[in-house]
Amino acid sequence: MCYKLVERYSVCRCLYFQHSIDPCSAYGQRGHSVQEKTVLVGYACTQHSARGTSTSPQDGRWPDSGYCSLKGSCR
Ligand SMILES: [Zn+2]
Ligand SMILES: [Zn+2]
Repeated sequence: MCYKLVERYSVCRCLYFQHSIDPCSAYGQRGHSVQEKTVLVGYACTQHSARGTSTSPQDGRWPDSGYCSLKGSCR
């Protein structure tokens, strides 16, 4: 079984870093799948770690991001 290491923020589960696949001898065969191993890093990403400064949706990317970023409900 091949493994792919994926690091995610433990708070919001956003992608932190995706490593290249660590292939085994059966890599590339039909029906052979790659197992994803998730490693959590102990903090939130920049979008979800802002405290006290992001209560107003000033970046305009998420029209209702005030609620969303506070609750951490969107990815
Ligand atoms: Zn494999
Ligand atoms: Zn995040």
